[in-house]
Amino acid sequence: MSNRDLSSKLFNAAKEVIPGGVNSPVRAFKSVDGDPFFVQRARGCRIWDVDGNEMIDYVGTWGPAILGHAPSAVIDAVSHAAKEGISFGIPNRHEVELARMVRDYVPSVEKVRMVSSGTEATMTAIRLARGYTGRDKIIKFEGCYHGHVDSLLVAAGSGALTLGQPDSAGVPKDLANLTITLPFNRPEAVEEAFRLEGESIAAIILEPIPANAGLIFPKEGYLQFLREITEKYGAVLIFDEVMTGFRLARGGVQELVGITPDLTAMGKVIGGGLPVGAFGGKAEIMDYLAPDGPVYQAGTLSGNPLAMVAGITQLKEMERHNGWARLDEIGQQFEDGVRSVLKETGRDLTLNRIGSMFCLFFTEEEIINVEDVKKSDFAAFRKFFWAALDRGVYFAPSQYEAGFISLAHGPDEMEKTAEVTADALKVALS
Ligand SMILES: *Cc1c(COP(=O)(O)O)cnc(C)c1O
Repeated sequence: MSNRDLSSKLFNAAKEVIPGGVNSPVRAFKSVDGDPFFVQRARGCRIWDVDGNEMIDYVGTWGPAILGHAPSAVIDAVSHAAKEGISFGIPNRHEVELARMVRDYVPSVEKVRMVSSGTEATMTAIRLARGYTGRDKIIKFEGCYHGHVDSLLVAAGSGALTLGQPDSAGVPKDLANLTITLPFNRPEAVEEAFRLEGESIAAIILEPIPANAGLIFPKEGYLQFLREITEKYGAVLIFDEVMTGFRLARGGVQELVGITPDLTAMGKVIGGGLPVGAFGGKAEIMDYLAPDGPVYQAGTLSGNPLAMVAGITQLKEMERHNGWARLDEIGQQFEDGVRSVLKETGRDLTLNRIGSMFCLFFTEEEIINVEDVKKSDFAAFRKFFWAALDRGVYFAPSQYEAGFISLAHGPDEMEKTAEVTADALKVALS
C-alpha cells in the first residue's frame, strides 16, 4: 500500500471550501471508493503525488498531454509568449496561425473559432446548427459525453455515468425534451427518429469513436449512414472530436474514416494543456456566427496568446516527431503487453484500443454501446485500479474512462505496465 496521508489531508481541507473537494467530479475518485491523490509535479509519462509516490500516468490530464507532461518545447514557447503579455482581448497573430493549422489538419474545417473549453465548443456548435437550420431538436447518443452543456447532459457518459446520474438536476425539462437520445450503433433508431421528427431535427452530435463510456467503436458503415441520413433530411452532422481530434490522427477520426462532418468540436490536445477549445466546419455554416451572422458567441479569453502558443507548439512537435505514426506503434506495444498478460488470466476480458487510446473492460462481452459497458464487473475494476496504483501505474479511476498513451511512454514503461497489470489482474480477479 502506498502512503497517501498528505493527499488525504489536502482532500479533507479541499472539501471544506470546494464542493466535493474537486473542480471536476471524476477527480473525486468516487467510483473507486477512495480519496484522490494530489499531484506535486508531472513530467514525461510520470506523475508524482505530494506524498512522494511515483506513477506511470495513463490519464495524461484526460487527453491533452499527448507529448507527455511538461514538454520543454511547450514550456519554452509559453514562457517566451508570456513576456509579451498574458492576455489582450484583442486579435493576436497566434490565433491566425493556430486557425490555419486546424484548417490544414482537419478535413471538414474551412473556418474555425477558438473558445476556452470543449464544453463551449459543443455548446456553440449546437446553437449554430439550430440557428443555421432554424430547427430546435438535436439527436445525441447514450454514453456520448459532450461537456456539461444543458441540452447535452442527457444520457451523457463519463463523470455523469460514474456518479450514476446520467441526467443533471437543474436542466429544464423543456430543454431536455428537445434532445432525442438514442442508443449508439443502432441505425434503425436514427431512421425512426428522422421518420417521426425529421423536419425539426437541427443536428446529430456524436463522438465518432465514443471515449467517455470506456472506448466504443462504430460498426462498419455506421458513420457513413449518419452522414447520409443527415444530408437527406438537411440536418447538421457534428463530430465531437474533443477527445479524438489531433490524437487518433492529425485530422481526427474524420481523417481516419474519410467522412466529412458539417461541424467539428475540438479541445484537449489542441490546447497543449492550456484551456482551449474550438469548433469549425463549413464556411457557409460558420459565417452564421457573430459578428457577421445572427448566432451569438463570444469569449473574454478566447484566442488567449499563451493558450494558442501552447497548442501551436504541441502540434508542431507532433509533426516533427512523426507523432501520430509513433503513437500507433507505442499503442500496439502496449496492447501486445496487456494481451499477453490477459491470456494468462484465463479470462477473455475485452480490451479495446485504437492508436493511443484504450479501455480494458471487466467483462467478456463485446462492447457495442453503453449498455454493454454497464455489464462490467465494477467491483473487480475497483480492485484492479487500486492494485495498479499501489504498484505505480495510474489508470483512469473509472470503468467509464478511456486511457491515454503519450509519446513519452517508452519500452521500459510498457514492460513495467505489463508486469503491474498482471499483478493487479490477479488481485482483481481472485
Ligand atoms: C472532454 C470532452 C468534452 C468537454 O471538454 P471540456 O474541456 O472538459 O469542457 C466534450 N466532448 C468530449 C468528447 C470530451 O471528451
